[in-house]
Amino acid sequence: MLQLKNLRKSYHVGDTTTKALDDVSISFRNQEFVAILGPSGSGKTTMLNVIGGLDRYDSGDLIINGKSTKNFKETDWDAYRNNSVGFVFQNYNLISHLSIIANVELGMNLSGVPASERHQRAVDALTQVGLKDHISKNPNQLSGGQMQRVAIARALANDPDILLCDEPTGALDTETSEQIMKLIQNLSKDRLVVMVTHNPELAKEYATRIVNFQDGKILDDSNPFTPKDEKDTFNLKRTKMSYWNAIKLSFTNIMTKKGRTTLTAFASSIGIISIAIVLSLSNGFQKQIDTTMSKALAKYPVTISQTATDVNSISDRDDSEKNVKNRGYLTAKKDKLQQSAHKNKITQKYVDYVKKINPEYANNISYQVGVNLNLIGKENGKVKPVQFSPLPAGTAASQAYEQMQSQAASMSFMGSTVFPTSLDKKKGNFLKDNYQLLSGAWPSKPTDLVMVVDNKNSLNINILKNLGIKVKADEKLNFNKLIGKEFKVVDNNDYYQELPTGMFVPQKPDQAMYKNSKIKLRIVSVIRPKNKDSMALLSSGIAYSDRLAVKVIKQNQNSAIVKAQKKSDRNVMTGQNMNGNAKKLMMQSIGGSSLPAGIMIYPNDFDSKDKVLDYLDQWNKGKKKQDKIIYTDMSSAVTSMTGGLLSGITAVLIAFAAISLVTSMIMIGILTYTSVLERTKEIGILKALGARKKDITRVFDAETFILGIFSGVLGVVIAQLLIFPINSILYTMTDLANVAQLNPVHALILIVISTILTMLGGHLPARMAAKKDAAIALRSE
Ligand code: ADP
Ligand code: MG
Repeated sequence: MLQLKNLRKSYHVGDTTTKALDDVSISFRNQEFVAILGPSGSGKTTMLNVIGGLDRYDSGDLIINGKSTKNFKETDWDAYRNNSVGFVFQNYNLISHLSIIANVELGMNLSGVPASERHQRAVDALTQVGLKDHISKNPNQLSGGQMQRVAIARALANDPDILLCDEPTGALDTETSEQIMKLIQNLSKDRLVVMVTHNPELAKEYATRIVNFQDGKILDDSNPFTPKDEKDTFNLKRTKMSYWNAIKLSFTNIMTKKGRTTLTAFASSIGIISIAIVLSLSNGFQKQIDTTMSKALAKYPVTISQTATDVNSISDRDDSEKNVKNRGYLTAKKDKLQQSAHKNKITQKYVDYVKKINPEYANNISYQVGVNLNLIGKENGKVKPVQFSPLPAGTAASQAYEQMQSQAASMSFMGSTVFPTSLDKKKGNFLKDNYQLLSGAWPSKPTDLVMVVDNKNSLNINILKNLGIKVKADEKLNFNKLIGKEFKVVDNNDYYQELPTGMFVPQKPDQAMYKNSKIKLRIVSVIRPKNKDSMALLSSGIAYSDRLAVKVIKQNQNSAIVKAQKKSDRNVMTGQNMNGNAKKLMMQSIGGSSLPAGIMIYPNDFDSKDKVLDYLDQWNKGKKKQDKIIYTDMSSAVTSMTGGLLSGITAVLIAFAAISLVTSMIMIGILTYTSVLERTKEIGILKALGARKKDITRVFDAETFILGIFSGVLGVVIAQLLIFPINSILYTMTDLANVAQLNPVHALILIVISTILTMLGGHLPARMAAKKDAAIALRSE
């Protein structure tokens, strides 16, 4: 059944060549007890290793069950070792971190015997070698003889056809040696036993055949055997170690070096800790920013003004700017902002479109009508002109301000002086939602005015003066001085006088003008912003309903000045020539056009803003560039700016933290490498039991896998613990509670990353381990 034909094997070290096997030919019976005697270094171990498939021969052939092994692949040898061969070594070669029973089960693990059967067979084998009472002990709790019995039990467990023993009694006293020999003799009744020994007495007493060995050659054979031609009955089951078994094996190994493992895991978790903390801080800050921003900005309006900035058209890239240093000329360029300025053609159709917006998304829309109010008021019985402007009356600046107000919507950062009328009364009221009533009652009629003060209850003194209220700087003014104050809006026909030249000039206000006016305005309340953080939606000063503007336009539509202006391309007040746009503005200011100069849409909340923007985008679909209406959404510009900044900082911090991850990866590599060196003998044992290269790799990969998960979890746990003090420090510093928050998804991803990185770091040493020569590994101590 086992035939060696002209086997040769030599070792080459440097220039010297050692012939360990020199043309060895011998055949063994299926059942016999062969003792191999010979001096040290004569090649006995080499022959045993070759027979057992632990070592390869150089030439000749080894025939197993009639099959030549010349073309055997690694996996064939692995299967052969596992299924057919049992090894017993002089130094027992037990795995010290595994229990006795686990040592015996190891070979069956590889051949995939189910757990319960494995256990039973291991118990049977241990009983057979007389260790029934020591089953739960560890190898280092046994005597030498007992350890050798465990090794024999392990060799027996898979019921091999061949038992190979390399000086099994070499380390034992005479009495124990006799017992072991008896045991082996007993086992040789059902199988072939080949035993190398130094001891000719033992050989003579127990063996059925004695072979003398010298210088790699067989000197004599006491009972030679010439086999008949044998049919090929070679058939082996492939071996395979399951991932689960690899993990169990590594786990027990790791448990023998808890201290070192914990330290390493801690060191390699530092990267995870820092990344986790950076992430949770940035998470937290982003959340804080988002909530503050959305609180403050959610209600800030989306504005549509007559001129908007087309962000898409601002681009700094220009190839013609290359190599300009030495050109010797300059290029005249259009102003960038001017270039990107987009004229919005707000038409009645568009206004109607906006009006149809869903009140679920935006319940408040104000139309900024550019009409100038011809205001007058009474002071001590005298009629005087009145202004809502915050600038000193009668100056050029104040006139400019009037102009600006009429185009209020184009000044995105400035609050409006017109408050919207709510579309749906049930959905809340713009003023009540955002402002606090300091005195008086909420406006109900279009002619009701409100006085808006800032969050310090202060007001620009010019506003009061322009209303005809006598007040000194820093004077404290009682609310009732304001509430109930009345003004009148004068009809264009009363306000402007037509000169014989066809020009119009404003008249000096008088009692008749005051009496004639049909529109009486009244300040009904003083209000201030509700939230100290909220942006001023309305600018300080007088604010009125957009319905008032509609009323005034209606009154003035057919006035003389409007009719005259309609026909003329010159400004009927100044006589200047006007282009189309200037004429449009002029018409709007004298109440000749009902088209709004701007529209402000107040979204109900942060989420509905997107819906509003979608709705507005819908209008532009398929329109030519110049017909598009471009809106300004200040809040999103601000949020995306801070968001971008924060994620930039986060990325930089994470990059730094990641460096420590790489460091830990290298560390794990070194640790695995040491582990490989330490476990060299274990690798040899596993191979002797039939483990494939893959299985060895798997064992070490499993070790780094456990280590990776451990350090990942450890890192996340430590980070989570550190977050408490960090948050309390941040709370005392910034008054923000619970800023840092570790997202569970991030925690999970970090654990996965840690595992993958440690496995990567440990995989190379694991591959090295797998490549180790089993025979050399077993010779190592
Ligand atoms: P024995 O078991 O009979 O004492 P071995 O089979 O161990 O002898 O060794 C036979 C010869 O091969 C010895 O000379 C030994 O030095 C040599 N040898 C064994 N293993 C190696 C090796 N891995 N590298 C080089 N020489 C080796
Ligand atoms: Mg030897």
